[in-house]
Amino acid sequence: MVANKYAPGYFCTPSFSRMNILVLSRSGKLFSTRRIVEAGRARGHDISVVDHVQCDLVIARKDPHVMYKGQRLEDVDAIIPRIGASVTFYGAAVVRQFEAMKVFTTVESQSLVRSRDKLRSLQILSKAGVDMPRTVFTNYSKDVAMAVEHVGGAPCIIKLLEGTQGLGVVLAESKKAAVAVVEAFNTLKARVIVQEFIKEAKGEDIRAFVVDGTIVGAMRRRGKEGEFRSNLHRGGKAELIDLSPEEQEMAVHAARALGLRVAGVDMIQSSRGPLVLEVNASPGLEGIEQATGRDIAGEIIAYVERNVAAG
Ligand code: ADP
Ligand code: MG
Repeated sequence: MVANKYAPGYFCTPSFSRMNILVLSRSGKLFSTRRIVEAGRARGHDISVVDHVQCDLVIARKDPHVMYKGQRLEDVDAIIPRIGASVTFYGAAVVRQFEAMKVFTTVESQSLVRSRDKLRSLQILSKAGVDMPRTVFTNYSKDVAMAVEHVGGAPCIIKLLEGTQGLGVVLAESKKAAVAVVEAFNTLKARVIVQEFIKEAKGEDIRAFVVDGTIVGAMRRRGKEGEFRSNLHRGGKAELIDLSPEEQEMAVHAARALGLRVAGVDMIQSSRGPLVLEVNASPGLEGIEQATGRDIAGEIIAYVERNVAAG
């Protein structure tokens, strides 16, 4: 039968086949995971949650595969990794295994690992010509005063290389404070970067959500009273914004430079224009879907459809 394109429902008919999608996540109860599962089902796919930490990897030249709770995972068309920062090492190994099995992934293992290291990702962004706050990294240097001078003096920001959700980001009001903080981290053998403090941002930043080279939503986050960190996990509030063409360009370019097709790009407004702070490989959906009212989870599923259908 020839489909009547004016019949009701015609435009809803999926032009792709039903896929078997796995969301790699510690729990199906997490907001973003739940939304992705909902969006996948709404679009007619088989989608389930697999806890990557409980996967066992069978590595071999022929037939590499993944065992989950004693059963082999079969006929997987795509994975959507939602790997938390605390389990990046194992999570990336699981993603790599699916790559070896030629399963489509929304986040490649290499990009995931890169994006988790603030130093490495800033270096990649600088090479790609993306502007950022001036940043210094030293090998547990004793000469912290020099590092502070290089970023324009105090106040300055000190960040753990692998911090997340605003934890591990410190504002040092004076050079003395900066020296004390860096020394404390050095003693713990925790590596840090020293960064120019963008005070004109006044505790605000911008989160742009990029899917497949397109901005699918953007919000401004404002830190709670007296807080320079705008993270929603630290009590920040989000509101819908329209990005300037320059901000759009920057966010798409930053995501591409890190090889991330699904990314949350954090930018900050400075007197010399927007600067990229970081690019997140597992950006949360709750804040952005609430602020924009858009079905961002659906955008992620649509991206998978375009690729698996093409693959
Ligand atoms: P995290 O991975 O913990 O979110 P970020 O680098 O994104 O680390 O920093 C957390 C927040 O701190 C940012 O969203 C921003 O509001 C604030 N912040 C970070 N770096 C700077 C900076 N150089 N100048 C001013 N504010 C900053
Ligand atoms: Mg951040």
